[in-house]
Amino acid sequence: PTAQIGVTGLAVMGSNLARNFARHGHTVAVHNRTTARTTALIDEHGHEGNFVPAEIAEEFVAALQKPRRIVIMVKAGDPTDAVIDEFAPLLDEGDMIIDGGNAHFLDTRRREKKLRERGIHFVGTGISGGEEGALHGPSIMPGGSAESYEALGPLLESIAAKAPDGTPCCTHIGPDAAGHFVKMVHNGIEYADMQLIAEAYDLLRTVAGYEPARIAEVFRGWNTGRLDSYLIEITAEVLAHTDAATGRPFVDVVADAAEQKGTGRWTVQTALDLGVPVSGIGEAVFARSLSGSTGLRAAARGLPGPEGAALSGEEAEAFAARVEEALYASKVVSYAQGWNMISAAGAEYGWDIDLGGVAAIWRGGCIIRAAFLDRIRAAFAADPALPTLLADKGFAEEVGRAQDAWREVVATAVRHGVPTPGFSAALAYYDALRAERLPAALTQGQRDFFGAHTYRRTDREGSFHTLWGGDRSEERTA
Ligand code: NDP
Repeated sequence: PTAQIGVTGLAVMGSNLARNFARHGHTVAVHNRTTARTTALIDEHGHEGNFVPAEIAEEFVAALQKPRRIVIMVKAGDPTDAVIDEFAPLLDEGDMIIDGGNAHFLDTRRREKKLRERGIHFVGTGISGGEEGALHGPSIMPGGSAESYEALGPLLESIAAKAPDGTPCCTHIGPDAAGHFVKMVHNGIEYADMQLIAEAYDLLRTVAGYEPARIAEVFRGWNTGRLDSYLIEITAEVLAHTDAATGRPFVDVVADAAEQKGTGRWTVQTALDLGVPVSGIGEAVFARSLSGSTGLRAAARGLPGPEGAALSGEEAEAFAARVEEALYASKVVSYAQGWNMISAAGAEYGWDIDLGGVAAIWRGGCIIRAAFLDRIRAAFAADPALPTLLADKGFAEEVGRAQDAWREVVATAVRHGVPTPGFSAALAYYDALRAERLPAALTQGQRDFFGAHTYRRTDREGSFHTLWGGDRSEERTA
């Protein structure tokens, strides 16, 4: 056998990953359920490196050096189970199955446990960066055993994106499903980033009256500062684009109903189970759902809104800088929430995730890649037990400086009737987190009143219940 690694599932992601391995000097066995795809890959790209095409599973497995490393890049869900069931019986103890698809982390936990019993390493691996990333360098988030990473890490690191400081955007995230979990949160954060950017655009357009081409310039400017990121960069490109058919701004001819494939929804569902507020991601998922609720929107179209005129003159000129502050502060909150979620899952599942390491491998290759992530890496390097990004001295100072503009932008949005669920929810989270006292005390009183759910006191240990239906005396229950 000559191949260091094998890839089965040669649709766009799998074939690009296989080519990436081959271009880095690895011999790659390639296989696909339908052989035509394998043949096409060899015909079109066989000259790029050493490929060993295989028509059937046995031939594919026989081509692999031990311990065998098989990357599965097929449709997530049942097809992944089907492919595992096909290959696992052909493998020996110590071999590795690497699932690079977008699996739900609970599926990955189930698969890892089952294969571990048979001595096979199952490495659920988040791969971000789409087709381009798969070919030129994705951000790679492998889970699975630490032992498997010893044999697999160098191969994955060789094809991963490189951060600006040259380090590969790939690290062992943690055991079993830690990699797929972190990839899911990455996608959730991506939703939140996109929503915040959309709100910034909407405010500049609707409240300050900027045209799309001018907003593109504003974004280009932002991209040279602390918001420097792939998503800000492509936002400028999209806004500057003119529709060839109509000559109008492209953004004006696209239907305003955002679609989703489901990883944002998974993130929110999982966050609810973990009890971690990820309101930034939640609002982003809800905003997409609302945008696609055609019937509801049609039914509500005539509802009254405020009559205010758009900003003008100096006020309009100054607005972009304020929106930048609001966007940045909201972004810090949404990343803080995402990291809290990763940290909570690490504790829940015993994953021991290096929180700064996650930021480090998102600096390149993936959709949320940004200069900002190096700041997060540094924050956790300074304090690995940082409870929230908002407690990092640097972020706290920046958000503190931004807060006046942030509040003003949210208030302006409310006055003008422009929906900014991302900005508003982020600000509400910030204010709730820093509050001395929350009205949760009243909530506890209500719960005790209607359901005898008991409460704790600020001045004494124990649980208490007030006899609301009786003489309203208080009894200690625990
Ligand atoms: P698809 O998700 O479209 O899957 C097509 C591949 O799955 C084909 O190779 C197909 O084989 C194979 N397949 C489907 N059903 C079966 C089955 N029952 N048994 C064996 N093989 C099967 O391909 P993509 O390349 O778009 O994505 C691959 C994976 O990567 C997915 O899990 C996807 O979610 C993920 N992905 C990740 C992205 C990222 O940025 N990280 C971007 C896009 C996808 P056949 O040719 O025989 O039909």
